[in-house]
Amino acid sequence: MKILLHICCGPCSLYPLQALREEGMELEGFFYNPNIHPYREYLRRWEALHQVAEAEGLAVRHRWEYELEKFLARVAQFPSERCRHCYELRLEKAAREAAEGGFAAFTTTLLVSPWQKHDLIRQVAEEVAGRVGVPFLYRDFRPGYRQGQQRARELGIYRQPYCGCIYSEKERYARSRPDVARAR
Ligand code: SF4
Repeated sequence: MKILLHICCGPCSLYPLQALREEGMELEGFFYNPNIHPYREYLRRWEALHQVAEAEGLAVRHRWEYELEKFLARVAQFPSERCRHCYELRLEKAAREAAEGGFAAFTTTLLVSPWQKHDLIRQVAEEVAGRVGVPFLYRDFRPGYRQGQQRARELGIYRQPYCGCIYSEKERYARSRPDVARAR
């Protein structure tokens, strides 16, 4: 069965790739992630995915569409609900790519991360699949998360320190106030 694998980043692709190949699936990767900010971080993750693709013999589809403006327009008014919009934007693009490319189904490496909203990803992906008319292949890849990250370390693949958007970057780094720390 030919499956389109939406890939959020190189390290997260390693375990799903292995697991689905073990099931006998034929895979092609798809990189569409306008949620990765800033642009140089996006390029860094894109490069990391290419290292994985080369190491694992994976073909990757990529339309050079860095739709930062579209992403921000959708989430700026409702930052607390941003992940739903983020999943929808990315998975709808993947579903449409799968339909156009004649794939039997699509799935996503987002399902490997224990840090993501797993149930919401599944719900959004199933809604999108219904709208577009291409099946969503659900798997819980989370038990293989550590194994995938270990393999990424062995390959020397860049492992990003925050989820992707500027909101997640702020949450990761803006916990302490340098002005307060300096006054101590
Ligand atoms: S935190 Fe991650 S999943 Fe949520 S909107 Fe930002 S990039 Fe997307």
